[in-house]
Amino acid sequence: MRNRLIVANWKLNGNWAFNEMMISELSAGLGGVQSHDHEIILCPPAIYLQQLNGLMGDIPLLLGGQDLSEHFFGAYTGEVSGQMLKELGCRYTLVGHSERRARHQESNELVALKAKAALACGLIPIICVGETLEERESGKMNAVIQRQIQSVMECLEDDISQVVIAYEPIWAIGTGLTAKVEQAQEVHEFIRGVLREYSELSAQKISVIYGGSVKAANAPILLEMPDIDGLLVGGASLLSSEFLAICLSSL
Ligand code: 13P
Repeated sequence: MRNRLIVANWKLNGNWAFNEMMISELSAGLGGVQSHDHEIILCPPAIYLQQLNGLMGDIPLLLGGQDLSEHFFGAYTGEVSGQMLKELGCRYTLVGHSERRARHQESNELVALKAKAALACGLIPIICVGETLEERESGKMNAVIQRQIQSVMECLEDDISQVVIAYEPIWAIGTGLTAKVEQAQEVHEFIRGVLREYSELSAQKISVIYGGSVKAANAPILLEMPDIDGLLVGGASLLSSEFLAICLSSL
């Protein structure tokens, strides 16, 4: 049985007042929701992790970073290490989000090193993969995604089942375009096949979650697909009622 994960990627959003309001509204809406194989994870900007960690109390929420350094310490101005994320209460961290791959020139090799650093610090890396529209239309989609996953798997000496894969088609991020559920399921099944080349057991265990214009309206149908184990939500995670509806539909 794979864990079901609903992950909120706040990206460069939030402030002290907004964060307080979100926690209070999520707290009211999630009430006594408890499920051992179901996790709701907030990934705010790193600077707010401490505040959110202090506000969360008994609410069934977990924290994650949006990125981490591949280094553990040293002269790397502006970076945040896995150990620092851990100290601020994170259990997870996003790695290789397409915005970082595109805007910060993160290569597959760097993403692999970051995933490895996360595991070494006791964090679960949520490794983001996905194709551009051009790659999809020119038939390169599977090769691109396979390479993104292979470079991480080949670099990890730790148990590869300790990772989460997030499939986010780049053309569906923030555009209002969502992959059709069948399209998403097809890619998730393909990803599980790539994982199977490394370990059948891990392929069964690893949660593969979907991101790209997820909303309350499309969350339930996406979650019905056999290989979609959760959702990575951007814009809709900034609206408490919308995000709550997504979380509740996943239970
Ligand atoms: P949107 O849900 O805004 O499309 O963002 C998806 C995303 O990039 C989450 O990491």
